[in-house]
Amino acid sequence: MARDIKIKMKTPLVEMNGDEMARVLWEEIREALITPFVDLNSVNFDLSVLERDRTEGRVSADAVTALLTYGVGVKCPTITPTPERVREYGLVHDIPSPNRLIRKALGGILFRTPISLPAIKPLIPNWKKSITVIRYAYGDVYRGVEIPAEKGDVCELVLRKAGGEMISRQVYDFSGSGVVQAMHNVDDGIAGFAHCCMRHALDTGQDLWFGAKDTVSKTYDRRFFDIFDRVYKEGFEEGFNAGGIAYHSMLVDDAVARAIRSEGGFVWACKNYDGDVFSDMVAAGFGSLAMMSSYIISPDGQACYEAAHGTVKRHYYRYTKGEQVSTNPVGLIFAWSGALRKRGEKDGLTDLTSFAEKLEGAVAGTIADGIVTADILPESIAGEGRAVDFKEFISETASRLRRELFADEAAML
Ligand code: NAP
Ligand code: MG
Repeated sequence: MARDIKIKMKTPLVEMNGDEMARVLWEEIREALITPFVDLNSVNFDLSVLERDRTEGRVSADAVTALLTYGVGVKCPTITPTPERVREYGLVHDIPSPNRLIRKALGGILFRTPISLPAIKPLIPNWKKSITVIRYAYGDVYRGVEIPAEKGDVCELVLRKAGGEMISRQVYDFSGSGVVQAMHNVDDGIAGFAHCCMRHALDTGQDLWFGAKDTVSKTYDRRFFDIFDRVYKEGFEEGFNAGGIAYHSMLVDDAVARAIRSEGGFVWACKNYDGDVFSDMVAAGFGSLAMMSSYIISPDGQACYEAAHGTVKRHYYRYTKGEQVSTNPVGLIFAWSGALRKRGEKDGLTDLTSFAEKLEGAVAGTIADGIVTADILPESIAGEGRAVDFKEFISETASRLRRELFADEAAML
């Protein structure tokens, strides 16, 4: 690549900016690691909490429309308003979480893969290979209906059949105050999820695990197992056998115990809540929440890349007071590289996919040289590791990236 020629793009990338420390990192990454090398063709949406409030949530809806139109997006973490955040930012409108809108639009299947690098030793020493958690981010408690109950209340679950017949079950007869919850899921969604997990296992040549609790939940969780079995037998058994990989279904507690003792190298299909919790456990086990990539892929191949962490509020408060903060930008850099790689694959642009590889390589090189942020210093195995602030980490990565990109050019002279 000649020094003055940037990598060209075809179709735009949907770029969604966010809040707080993640936004500060985002701008720095964009300026130091992306725009000097790529002639960035992006459509931009500012999903900061104030802009979402000002537009009464329209900006999030517009971003989702663009994502469905162009097919690849990269998103910065955003604040999901809580009563405390509403007071802090003086918000006026009830604005939906953009993450929820995106998950809903793309079908709600979330991939989380630790960014495992040779220079970082996992906290769990026997984890030698990565573990990809695929979370079915639809339904269950996330769409639960909840009602507080008082002493003397009786809760019944009633299903009105399409033909008008009623089926009812008593849930509980309250002799003291308490609480109830009802939740649901849908067969097509579960089958789509099973399909997506099996496809990913096959494409990456890894075993697939699925755990739920049908010993307790004999109808609800049993349905998940039955659908997984059907999808496997109908569409994947032969492929798995030919590829030398296996599908293991088990009790979820067994899955957790086995995962901890395993050496990694498998795909872990998780129900909604399990995926929410286990993905953070897997991230922590590999080193840090910041060392995890997170993306959603729809059954039609639309994709949105993000970091697994949030806006890193505590670091932002210190940053706005003028303190130096050692926030780890790796998850966000990998969100960019993931999105650019996908854009390159879809548009047949090998320069762009190769740029994504080199960007990730430059991050790995910086860490291998012992230049790390404070969160991963204890796991760094480069002898003389030193903790730097986010600016220095990004600028060190930029120098390595420049060297790597221009090495090709030098070799051609
Ligand atoms: P967070 O941003 O995930 O950070 C929690 C803690 O994890 C940090 O205080 C920090 O620990 C550590 N951490 C996370 N990312 C790090 C990084 N890149 N480098 C170094 N350390 C990192 O969660 P939060 O601060 O509790 O949440 C803030 C906001 O994020 C909330 O308003 C929430 O709504 C939002 N959120 C958004 C998304 C999303 O848009 N995808 C996801 C989750 C949360 P130490 O302070 O101990 O260093
Ligand atoms: Mg979680």
